[in-house]
Amino acid sequence: MSSDVAKRESAAPRQLGADEDFDVEVDIIVVGGGASGLPAALFSRWLDNQVLLLEKAPELGGTANKAAFWYWVPNNERMRELGLQDDESGFLRYCARLSVPHAYDRESPTLGMARWEYDACRAIYESASPAAELLAKRDALPYRHCEAVPDYWSELPEDAAPKGRVFVPRDARESMSDGGINGIRTMSAAARRDGVDIRLAANLQASVVRFNELARTGVDADFGRGERAVQQLFNGDVREEPGRTNPTMWPLSDVGPYYAALVTGGTLDTKGGPKTSVDAQVLDDLDQPIPGLYGIGNCVASASRRAYWAGGATIGPMIAFAYRAAQAADGEPIKQTATQGVHA
Ligand SMILES: Cc1cc2nc3c(=O)[nH]c(=O)nc-3n(C[C@H](O)[C@H](O)[C@H](O)COP(=O)(O)OP(=O)(O)OC[C@H]3O[C@@H](n4cnc5c(N)ncnc54)[C@H](O)[C@@H]3O)c2cc1C
Repeated sequence: MSSDVAKRESAAPRQLGADEDFDVEVDIIVVGGGASGLPAALFSRWLDNQVLLLEKAPELGGTANKAAFWYWVPNNERMRELGLQDDESGFLRYCARLSVPHAYDRESPTLGMARWEYDACRAIYESASPAAELLAKRDALPYRHCEAVPDYWSELPEDAAPKGRVFVPRDARESMSDGGINGIRTMSAAARRDGVDIRLAANLQASVVRFNELARTGVDADFGRGERAVQQLFNGDVREEPGRTNPTMWPLSDVGPYYAALVTGGTLDTKGGPKTSVDAQVLDDLDQPIPGLYGIGNCVASASRRAYWAGGATIGPMIAFAYRAAQAADGEPIKQTATQGVHA
């Protein structure tokens, strides 16, 4: 990596100050309490670890709260009781046929999948059933076996066990629309019962209080909002109030509803490409101009590198280089074309 790329401060491990201590010390920290985090916390806890589950939302579940929460369990115990065969090779063929239709090869040792993909499918076959059974046995995720539910591509000849692999949380409605709510409810209850330390977000209220304090003083000590002239140009005067020190900030009301917009990075233009001379001549790998070849704009490298100098800092320079390129090209000797050469 090039040495002029600044190291991110946030990437450095944070050192504790002399008067600071950790809030909590545990064996395992699980970040996110949804469809994967909750079972991960439970399994870790049942292996006798101290587990801390951090969830950024005010409630557990994430996307899983919206899910029907079918879960696909190859070669599960209920299938075995019913005499439904689901051997590993058939399962792997079904996975491979769908995952890599372009490369599927029945004769290949990995059936055309990359080795890691093949191994992942084997791991699913090996562990989905014991995992589901353990969750059920500990009353964290009691299930209903959906004997009649087919795989989505059950017609394929590779699907040796076209029905019987799906489970759903036991108390889900017939429509299964509340499967996720039920699954998250029972897993959360088990996690609390068994001593997983669950910490939910309490951030929003604190954020509003903090923002309002700063808005009142007019100094955004957290993000520097409104400190720079250009911020006032683009985002100034939230509301008419003569004399407000920082017109980009206004205290929020103490009660909602609040509306939010995601403010995120986007791409305005690009700057990558070949280097050019001051006259926009494209340079070769020895920094020599390629005769007759000029490049201007987003297709070539820019001296601005990581900066956006000012509003118009892409088009202004483009016009400048267009001007210089036109003059330089105009001054170049006229070339004979190959055809002209043959006839000459
Ligand atoms: C309508 C619908 C129906 C679906 N039905 C099914 C189905 O029947 N079967 C099926 O297999 N799949 C289904 N899915 C997909 C399934 O719900 C998701 O694939 C699954 O929930 C993903 O699990 P996850 O743990 O990765 O994410 P999530 O379940 O979303 O959990 C992630 C959690 O992490 C938290 N989080 C994120 N960032 C942070 C952070 N920085 N700090 C702390 N916490 C954080 C989130 O708030 C969230 O609670 C469905 C999805 C939808 C939307």
